[in-house]
Amino acid sequence: MEIDTLSMMTVAMANLLGISVVLPLIMGRSLTPAARAMQAGLLLLTLGWAMLTASEYANSFVLSVLSMGSLSASLVMLHRALGGWLGPRPGERAIVVLAVLVPVGYALTFSSYAVRVGWSNFLLAAMLVLLARATLLARRNAGRHWRLVLLACFASMAVLTAARGLLGAFFTSFYPTFLAPNPVNIAAALATNIAVVLGTVALLVAWRDEADHRLRTIANTDSLTGLPNRRGFTERAEALFANAKRYHHPLTVLMLDLDHFKQVNDRHGHDGGDKALVLFAEMLGETRRTGDLVGRLGGEEFCVLLPNAKLHTASGFDQRLRARLQQQVKAKLGFALDYSAGVAALSTQDTTLAGLMARADAALYQAKREGRAKLLMGQSGAGDTVV
Ligand code: GH3
Ligand code: MG
Ligand code: MG
Repeated sequence: MEIDTLSMMTVAMANLLGISVVLPLIMGRSLTPAARAMQAGLLLLTLGWAMLTASEYANSFVLSVLSMGSLSASLVMLHRALGGWLGPRPGERAIVVLAVLVPVGYALTFSSYAVRVGWSNFLLAAMLVLLARATLLARRNAGRHWRLVLLACFASMAVLTAARGLLGAFFTSFYPTFLAPNPVNIAAALATNIAVVLGTVALLVAWRDEADHRLRTIANTDSLTGLPNRRGFTERAEALFANAKRYHHPLTVLMLDLDHFKQVNDRHGHDGGDKALVLFAEMLGETRRTGDLVGRLGGEEFCVLLPNAKLHTASGFDQRLRARLQQQVKAKLGFALDYSAGVAALSTQDTTLAGLMARADAALYQAKREGRAKLLMGQSGAGDTVV
């Protein structure tokens, strides 16, 4: 069987063209910057390959320089998409510098085939290596499989592009054009076809991962205060609880409920109530220390989980929060705000987070019964004031 590189590259380009036209249609309009960068990357890749192929036949300086610019810009866009999905990537500046050097060097050395082919392919290979590296580190629990597929696509294209550079620069007679039927070009054309298909699938899965993550964040976040809601709080708290139980570390739960909040709404309107909730959430955020988990369980009820903290630490949290409230709330809201709280520390008898939270809750309601605006401790001796 005779393998024809031009036919294979034409099929790859046709597929890429189809993908870059169809993807924006099926992905819709409301896109994240990462998804937009991915679409731009695929479109530029299509343009780049099309111009490169056309320039072979038209023997056009302008077309081939533009194709180099387009190909390198496409790799920058794909790197940017990975940055959007996985967090800032190393090599962000390096890949932009390389993207400028590729077409500029190509244009300046155009008169020497060996130099321009070597230059452009080695630099494009370096960009592909940076792209491959960018799939490796994940900021959060990003899907591992699509990253591995992209890693394989970028790494194989990097190797084959470097091989093209090597042939073009040092064995020019084997490499009169990038379509010449030598083993490197045949392997590259085959790999390009596979990479277009698998790479697109991986990019779409990455996009779906991003949408999943955004939905999960929305589902776990309280829209008014930006704090984790009951669901988000419980999810993280369960992990902290399991960790504390396993390693016998202290853990304390503080349950807080604003006092007479119905009256706040009645007197200052629902908007006034909302502002008070937002301010209270901000103050909880300012009072918490690294590792403390704060959440809004519902209405005007909040919860703080303090890992590695005993009762006196929770009581310190409560005192700092009350001091903040006294100093700032009246000035910021125009009225005072107070709360009652219950605290419970993890003991060997606690088997569930819900049980521990229920003890803090019981202490909170005891504090309500005893006149509000105080913190009570919920243990076997529930009802003891700790402030
Ligand atoms: P207590 O001191 O016993 O806790 O009295 P309270 O008035 O704070 O408690 P109650 O449970 O009777 O009322 C809670 C109020 O909180 C009623 C509800 O309208 C209000 N509330 C719950 N969620 C929101 C919210 O998102 N915004 C506003 N503005 N008010 C809310
Ligand atoms: Mg209340
Ligand atoms: Mg309440």
